[in-house]
Amino acid sequence: MKDGYIVKDVTYGKPTESELELINLHTRREYSADEVYVFSVILCDNEIDREYERFTKDALIKLSELFVGKTGILDHNMKSENQTARIFSCEVEEVPNKLTSIGEQYYRLKARAYMPRISKNNDFISEIDSGIKKEISVGCAVGKIRCSICGENMKSLHCEHIKGKKYNGEVCHYILEEPLDAYEWSFVAVPAQKEAKVIKALDLELKGGEDNMEDVIKMLYTDAPISISKSQAKDLTKFIDTLKEQAEDGKTYKEDMRKEVLKYCSLVEPEIDIKVMDAVTKKMNLNELKSFKTAFMSKVNRDFPVKPQLLPYEKEKKKNKINEFKI
Ligand SMILES: [Zn+2]
Repeated sequence: MKDGYIVKDVTYGKPTESELELINLHTRREYSADEVYVFSVILCDNEIDREYERFTKDALIKLSELFVGKTGILDHNMKSENQTARIFSCEVEEVPNKLTSIGEQYYRLKARAYMPRISKNNDFISEIDSGIKKEISVGCAVGKIRCSICGENMKSLHCEHIKGKKYNGEVCHYILEEPLDAYEWSFVAVPAQKEAKVIKALDLELKGGEDNMEDVIKMLYTDAPISISKSQAKDLTKFIDTLKEQAEDGKTYKEDMRKEVLKYCSLVEPEIDIKVMDAVTKKMNLNELKSFKTAFMSKVNRDFPVKPQLLPYEKEKKKNKINEFKI
């Protein structure tokens, strides 16, 4: 989801003649200028947003086509019937003398929307006029999400860069290109929702499931405010369960490796105190254990070409010398 807002108009609520023509393309009967209320909405722009993402100018142009005819939900109150407004024109607007944070010309996607002037819309119209209703959010799907640092398309590959982190002084962000579809736009009912945004709503529409987990995890490492949906939370817990299982397997593997190191150590380096070795190996990582095992193994192969029936370690174990400490 991206943020937008309502802007003040010169025409203030009334459509021009040419606008009325466009509006009447969407209505079942001809409406007069007095029967409709029109307003302007900035849907999105090419500035890097809180999620460290930005649209290109070309993407905005494509979106300007996709948003025409799309309805916006004005009222999230579940008790009443949702009120809607429809976008009848949309264009990319160049804001003179304004640059984006990365020094590019600033462009924004400006839409004109209409709604019938009927009594159930009165409250809403006065809320727009008085400036109470301002923030909106829009949703769309894009075909390409490129990393600003390496240019990799996140839809097919994942690079090591993390959104919001600096690389050689440049803040990594994702560049959204090739919009495929524009969905509904809606007014942000609760101001708090504006702060907490849905993770990757943009490409969730296309990917979903565990493919997305890397994106979700990357988001967790940025400073951007985030919130996750129920299904994302479910995916995330599933992913954590898988990781836990893998971690258990890893622990078992490491412990087996450690026991082998102890076994071969007692065999080829009997002068080393097995208790000391036991304590030392507990602090080793898997790679260290592996290299110790390899070293001991080569000694075993050299010194004991034929595998003995019972290794000294096992003999000691039988004498209950080793069982006293837990492995
Ligand atoms: Zn990258």
